[in-house]
Order: sequence, then structure tokens, then C-alpha cells
Amino acid sequence: MAGLINHLNAIRNFFDTGATRSADFRKKQLQLLKESIRKHEEALSNALFTDLHKSKEEVWITETGMVLSEINACIKSLDEWMAPQPVPTNFVNIPGKSYLLPEPLGVVLIIAPWNYPFQLLFMPLVGAIAAGNCVVLKPSELTPATEKIMGQIIAETFAPNYVLYAPGEGAALIPELMDTFRYDHVFYTGSTAVGKIIYQKAAAQLAPVTLELGGKSPCIVTANAALTVAAKRITSIKFSNAGQMCITPDYLLVHHSVKEALVRQLKATLLKFYGEHPITSYDYGRIVNNKHFNRLRNLMEGQTILHGGEHNEEELFIAPTLIDTPSTEAPIMKEEIFGPLLPIIGYENDAEALAWIRQNENPLALYVFTSNKREANQWLQQVPFGGGCVNTTAMHYLNKNLPFGGRGNSGIGRYHGRFSFETFSHTKGVLKARTWPDIPLAYPTLKGKLKTLKRLLG
Ligand code: NAD
Repeated sequence: MAGLINHLNAIRNFFDTGATRSADFRKKQLQLLKESIRKHEEALSNALFTDLHKSKEEVWITETGMVLSEINACIKSLDEWMAPQPVPTNFVNIPGKSYLLPEPLGVVLIIAPWNYPFQLLFMPLVGAIAAGNCVVLKPSELTPATEKIMGQIIAETFAPNYVLYAPGEGAALIPELMDTFRYDHVFYTGSTAVGKIIYQKAAAQLAPVTLELGGKSPCIVTANAALTVAAKRITSIKFSNAGQMCITPDYLLVHHSVKEALVRQLKATLLKFYGEHPITSYDYGRIVNNKHFNRLRNLMEGQTILHGGEHNEEELFIAPTLIDTPSTEAPIMKEEIFGPLLPIIGYENDAEALAWIRQNENPLALYVFTSNKREANQWLQQVPFGGGCVNTTAMHYLNKNLPFGGRGNSGIGRYHGRFSFETFSHTKGVLKARTWPDIPLAYPTLKGKLKTLKRLLG
């Protein structure tokens, strides 16, 4: 972008005027954003169909509807979130008052990926606006139709010294965006590999980060699972957006006693959801580009296919595919699949299932299907993961009362609802003291006061 540094400096200057701090300003911007999204809803839907073959219903559930609902929640709760929050005052500071005072961070950079190109850029934007920041938005270049409409929405709604839209190819643009300007926070969603680059750039400026990354999220189906429901809830999420979802079940670990029955149910469910020819299905998506198509085709190579496997490069189509027990060394069990391929692995006992999970880094999500409470709790406790569900998949993402984020290699930090507000705010700890009484104990000379000090401050 020509003159980028001048734009960034203009944003800093605007933030410094204090204009973004009041609740009225923030609510007004959120309202304007809501109106603009509504105005462009159809164009957004068409763009997401062009880029990823998403139906308008899917766009509503996973993109626009989510963002509009987040805006509504922020407008409704903003006064409460912004209010100073009293906390108890410790003995030596009595009769003072202590409280937490949230304030905007300043200028924040938000970088998004292509799989939910609108939602993953605008959800953090909503939180950043609600918290009173100025924002620089870097969308993914891999979904160009959506990138264009999002640019229109931002340009029509906000002045560029408040919210700046900075599209471009990541590897070229990120150094320009990050090397010469210090952000007060960098919020990145995308692959772990690029996350490390972003983290290093932020570290050079001592900028705090939120990293929403990926990983291999396991889904465990125990001998005590309700199989028909499990098959539906695994299939509908795993093959939504052709499997290009960060919290999709990456692979299944199924107790050997129910593996055959589950595979039967999964096949029947796939036929019911997407028909004999998923390439013609209204509900089935496409792979984002040839690079990812070929990556997925290579992952399938040499595997035992239980169902699916058809593909068509011209259409960027890969059928929903069930794969039987890859070797632990196969690339499909080493890297995040991020596509419509579902390895199904039978296990004899929990230790064996745990060993499969421990082959990889901490997952972003964990799912366990079981009707046994003790068994569910055991799985929730023994695996470190970002967030997850019992007896369903991915639905925790839709609950704003739950923080969303990863752990270790799957991410740093969290957001959604109030957690977004907190991520994009700094909380000042403030003590308001009284001028009376003015107890001489804390003033020099301290000589001879040790016993009393130990009693009061111990
Ligand atoms: P990506 O890391 O390739 O791209 C994300 C962003 O980084 C894009 O804006 C891109 O332009 C930029 N970028 C790409 N290469 C860069 C480079 N060399 N230097 C600087 N910036 C660069 O990720 P992706 O392929 O768009 O998305 C897929 C990944 O994102 C998967 O691993 C998935 O699990 C993860 N993801 C995570 C979440 C989450 O919420 N945790 C959500 C969606 C996707």
C-alpha cells in the first residue's frame, strides 16, 4: 500500500485525540457496522459462494449471522463492561477504594485467514471497536471476491484513520505493516507456521499478541456413545465448508467394539446429507485453490478409503472421504488435514487412544461422544486442548459465554463476547486513597517499626 506508514501514523494521531473512548462513539460505530453488513448481506453471500461455494444459509450461520449477533451482544453489554469494577481493598489501604478500570489498548492489527474470511476478520473487529481501539485489518488474499466486498463495507462505514483496510499478499504486506509501526496488540488467525512469523514480528516491537492457530483436533467415540446422533454431529461439522474449519474433528478415535457400526452410520449419514453425487449438492463446499486441492490429494494417496475419494480438480471438488486407520507415520496423521478427509482409527483402550493424541501438539478442540459422565470428564481432564464439546462438535464456538482460543501450538489468548472486550482492553488496577487518616507508620524513619510492619503486611 502506497504511503502506508503515513496512514498508520494518522491512525495513531486519531487514537490519541481520545475520540474513540466514549461508550456513545463505540456504540455508534457498531451500529453503523451492523447497518453496512445488512446492506451488503447479499453481495457478501454471493462472494462467499464464488470463493468457497457456501450456500446463503451456511453464510448466515457461520459468517454474517455470527458477526451481527456479536455486534448486538456488545451494544447491549457495553456499559456494564466499561464500568469500573470495584474489588476489595487490602487492610493497609483501608479506607481507600480499589477498582479495575478497562481502557482501550490503542491501535490494533487484525490478520485473518480465508476459510471464514468475513467472520474471522469481523468478529475480532467488533471486539476491538467495542473496547475503543483504532484498527488495521489485513484480510486473506485467497478469497478475492469476499476481500473486495469487505473492503467496500469498511470504506463506506469508517474513516481510514479509524479503521484501515489493508488488503494484499501476506508474505509481502506483513513486513510492510509490522516492521516500522508499533501496534498495541496484534490479533492473528491462521496457520501455526505463519503464526510464528507474526509472533516474532510482534516481539520485535514488544507488541502483545493473540494467536488463533490450528492443529489436529481429535474426536473420540467411546463404546458408550449414542452412535446415530454422533454420526450426524460429526458429519455435519467435519464436511461443512469441505472440512476447511479450524475446529473440525481432524480424525476419529473409535472404540473397536463400535467402529464398524459407526462407519455404517457415517456412510448412511453422508448419503442422506449430500446424496450419491456430492459434487451436485447445494450444501457441499469447494477447496479454496489448486495448492490446497493437491495437498489434500497427496494426503489421500496410499490410504484405505472406506467411502468417497472422488475428486475433480477443475471444480476444486473433493468428496467427503472416510479413511481407515492410516499409519502413525503417514502425513495425514502428522499435519492438520483442513479438508474433507476423515481418518477413522479403532482403539482397544484409553491409553492407546491417548497415545495417538499425544503424537501431536495440543489440539485447538477436543470432542468426546459418550453417555457416561465419568468417562467424559476423564477425557476432558487428561488432554490439554483449547475448548471442546461432549456429545457434539464445534458448537462451543457459537456460545459467546465461552472463551474461544487454543493452547500451546494451537494458540495464545482467547476471544468472543466479553472475552473479546477484555482481549482488546487494558485493565488498569487503581487504588483511590483518602488524605485522612494519614498514619505515620509507612514514612521514614522505619527504625523500630519492623514488628508492627510484619504484623500488618504479613
Ligand atoms: P495462513 O497462515 O496461510 O494465512 C493467514 C493470514 O496470514 C493471511 O491473511 C495471509 O495473508 C497471512 N500470511 C500468509 N503467509 C504469510 C507470511 N509468510 N508472512 C506473513 N503473513 C502471511 O492461514 P490460512 O491458510 O489462511 O488458514 C488456515 C489455517 O488457519 C489453519 O491452520 C487453521 O486451523 C487456522 N485457523 C485457525 C482458526 C482459529 O480460530 N484458531 C480459525 C481459522 C483458521
